[in-house]
Amino acid sequence: MEIKRILTGDRPTGKLHIGHYFGSLQNRVKLQNDGKMFIEIADVQALTDNFNNPEKVKGNVKEVLMDQLAVGLDPNKVTFFLQSMIPEIAELTVFYSNLVTIARLERNPTVKTEIAQKRELFGESVTYGFLGYPVSQAADITAFDATIIPVGEDQLPLIEQCREIVRKFNSIYGEVLREPTAFLGENKRIKGLDGNEKMGKSLGNAIYLSDSEEEITKKVMNAVTDPARIKKDDPGNPNICMVAYYHNLFSKDNVKNICEECKQGKRGCVACKKQLIKNIMEHLSPIQERRHYYEERPKEVREILFEGTNEAKKEAAKTMEKVKEVMKLDYFKDK
Ligand code: SF4
Repeated sequence: MEIKRILTGDRPTGKLHIGHYFGSLQNRVKLQNDGKMFIEIADVQALTDNFNNPEKVKGNVKEVLMDQLAVGLDPNKVTFFLQSMIPEIAELTVFYSNLVTIARLERNPTVKTEIAQKRELFGESVTYGFLGYPVSQAADITAFDATIIPVGEDQLPLIEQCREIVRKFNSIYGEVLREPTAFLGENKRIKGLDGNEKMGKSLGNAIYLSDSEEEITKKVMNAVTDPARIKKDDPGNPNICMVAYYHNLFSKDNVKNICEECKQGKRGCVACKKQLIKNIMEHLSPIQERRHYYEERPKEVREILFEGTNEAKKEAAKTMEKVKEVMKLDYFKDK
């Protein structure tokens, strides 16, 4: 039976939060047993919209890696690598850029949404690098011959764009690349503590996997609840309360009861929040213990990334050999 090749990754622009955990990390932990998994720390892609802040990108490489290890991704099963250390990805990006029109990139719904969100950075005119990141992503995927790509629904257009590039490449030069398939899994999008659809540092509405109990307490105590509830015995509406929303993630067995008590005015908001804090901490404790282990061992973390990057380089070199051969770029190969 053919071994599945799975590729996923993160941009090192900040520590990972529970949105990442429920949205993708949990899935990855399950998937690591299903095939050969590569996890890219996408520092080059992070620079497309952080080109003016390279310290931020560099500083977050080890944070993102430690978060991945903390949730239970096993370096003996997963190949972690740094995108910038694989020059083949950059080479493939250049080759593929001939196969994509600017109009097609501008029509990509994921790119369109992101450009709109980044108006402040780009103004009216987006950079060539940012517009072209789906091409670089196609290079990431195909460099490792990955066929299973775990993504959220909002990223499906990126996978479709990659499939188009692969088809075009194969039809012009020869069948050497494989079309990837998106794996949607149980990807959930988690709202921020303020009810915002997006969770992030700039919005101040996220709980990070490495947050201390003190930080989590502060954040949960400020979470948005039913504003109509003044006294403990006022009947509440858990459907508009972010504490109830988070109980649904962290207090699954008890959430029905919590909502019933809230509706009947039998539950105080402070006690409800304290219970949530306790359950979040219980959930995050084993993750934080593992993170602590790696924080104490920076050499081991560095070695995991170094070894993984070396392995990834060898995989990308195999693809590059085939690509250059069909593109008639295999000069001096007997030397
Ligand atoms: Fe929200 Fe709990 Fe207060 Fe109900 S009792 S409004 S669920 S915090």
